[in-house]
Amino acid sequence: MTQPLPVKPSSLISPYGDELVNLLVPPAAVDDLKAYASHLPSLQLSERSICDLELLTTGGFSPLSRFMNRDDHQRVLEEMRLTSGHLFPIPVTLPVDPGTAIHLDQDVALRNAKNDLLAIMTIEEVYEWDVVQVAQAVSGTLDARHPLAEMHRWGKLNISGRLQVLQLPHHPDFQELRLSPAQTRARLEAYGYENVVAFQTRNPLHRVHEELIKRAIQRVDGVLLLHPVVGLTKPGDVDHYTRVRTYRALVQCSDDANRILLALLPLAMRLAGPREALWHALIRRNYGANYLIVGRDHASPGVDSQGEPFYGPYDAQALVEQFSAELGVGVIPFEELVYLPDEDRYEEASHVSSQARTASISGTQVREEYLNKGRTLPEWFTRPAVAEILSEVYPPRHRQGVCIWFTGLSGAGKSTTAEMLTILLLERGRQATVLDGDVVRTHLSKGLGFSKEDRDTNIRRIGFVAAEIVRHGGVAICAAVSPYLLTRDEVRDMVGQEHFIEVFVDTPLEVCEQRDAKGMYAKARRGEIIGFTGIDDPYEPPTHPEITLDTVAQTPEENAHRILDYLSQHGFVRTDEGASLLNDAACLAGGGV
Ligand code: ADP
Ligand code: ADP
Repeated sequence: MTQPLPVKPSSLISPYGDELVNLLVPPAAVDDLKAYASHLPSLQLSERSICDLELLTTGGFSPLSRFMNRDDHQRVLEEMRLTSGHLFPIPVTLPVDPGTAIHLDQDVALRNAKNDLLAIMTIEEVYEWDVVQVAQAVSGTLDARHPLAEMHRWGKLNISGRLQVLQLPHHPDFQELRLSPAQTRARLEAYGYENVVAFQTRNPLHRVHEELIKRAIQRVDGVLLLHPVVGLTKPGDVDHYTRVRTYRALVQCSDDANRILLALLPLAMRLAGPREALWHALIRRNYGANYLIVGRDHASPGVDSQGEPFYGPYDAQALVEQFSAELGVGVIPFEELVYLPDEDRYEEASHVSSQARTASISGTQVREEYLNKGRTLPEWFTRPAVAEILSEVYPPRHRQGVCIWFTGLSGAGKSTTAEMLTILLLERGRQATVLDGDVVRTHLSKGLGFSKEDRDTNIRRIGFVAAEIVRHGGVAICAAVSPYLLTRDEVRDMVGQEHFIEVFVDTPLEVCEQRDAKGMYAKARRGEIIGFTGIDDPYEPPTHPEITLDTVAQTPEENAHRILDYLSQHGFVRTDEGASLLNDAACLAGGGV
């Protein structure tokens, strides 16, 4: 018998729990298991669950090796630990709808949206979970604007059990950058340093980040793992194709290119601030990093529906620091760096005298003051190669898409105002598609009724189409009662907060009923229609609509102009075109005579 080769001890930190979980079945077993799976009931996984499955499979979540069972789940919520005692701050569960064909002690085939087989799961546990408890423990809020509010749409039962994974989700994009924990470790090992500092990001990177990376490399005297999340991030974030192009451009330009490993992380973020930051540290340890850069507002989803930040700016940093020794992952604080235009260099804000001239451009300014206005980002702020990628993907505002979402009772005046607004937009050179509730119900949503479920389906369909229109730079004007707050917020997320304008047509029920243009209220009062919004079905008014209209004191023209003004103020409609048309006319007149 041949002796096994001695294993070279790794210079990197060991995975959490000492071994990388690997759930892939041996290649020789795949064919038989595939044949077996064809007889099993199937479960289609959401995009989020597929991301989770991938990290379970490759050991990104080591020592976790399955979707959590009840006991692990409960302890994670209460103490951020698995029952084994290992830290684990975020629940990783597989929620399913009751009634799904799942049975205890049976196998089920886990598939993606296209029905490709990914894994076989033996269902060892089925348990109920409480969305409020999870939200409070994990994100610390019940606010509907938190991205985790999507948990309301998850299945009400969690299932757990042994996983046999037949294939990883397929990622045809940027293949050379998609490295599993084991592959990442092998690549990092080759650099020959003990220390690895990971940089988590979901945003495009600029010169300031380059500076920060440089300082982090010097500080730990090691390698930087540039580890952007490309699974699910916050709705409305710059898409990962664009981001990865900017990361590649930045690494190519960097003086430290030989100390940076760029690899993509297929994580589905929860945007859960402090707990999420700790999770990021744990995951990065599995990829071979013993340091993580944590700055202000790490993994924060911005502001809640009251305009207040969800977390304190340094809460995340504090929590990771608290567990840093136990986890073996040190925190490298993200220093605040400022640019000194007189010296053409970046410096830590704390080292700069109060008299020195400084310059900075915030993320909001990048979008609003530069890209949206078609202005080029300055070279001190970002590499020209990065600026070019961003300006190509983000045309000026007046060429970007926008969704104007009217909501209000039947007869409130949504369609009438929408029609008027469409004409005003056409006059200004913007094409608009109107998705009117009544009309949509004759084709796209034909056959749907007015149960809560059907109404939600109708609204999601309209939202889906609107999001596509907006993504392609068009104007979508939607006019449906859309009575439920959570569903409207869901649509807001589908379209993207920045491009969604909720218009509350706030007409009192008595007025709508008196108008009764469609004769519906009379029928509803006579009981010939049941479940009519405002009569015997609820209408949940928006809490923070971008615009509220009064249709009693204002005419449809006046209201349409108010919306148009809002669109102009936010750059979605050009305000200077009238003037330039006049100038053109003057030129023509001058030249012609
Ligand atoms: P919805 O689309 O909200 O169900 P419609 O626009 O179809 O409502 O109907 C609103 C009715 O109210 C129309 O008959 C319209 O002429 C009338 N109306 C009266 N005043 C106004 C106003 N200021 N704005 C909009 N509609 C008004
Ligand atoms: P939703 O957001 O509820 O899907 P739609 O705008 O698609 O709203 O459809 C509402 C329209 O359908 C109303 O303008 C009304 O004319 C008609 N309608 C018929 N039955 C009902 C009902 N039970 N509740 C509300 N609207 C109804």
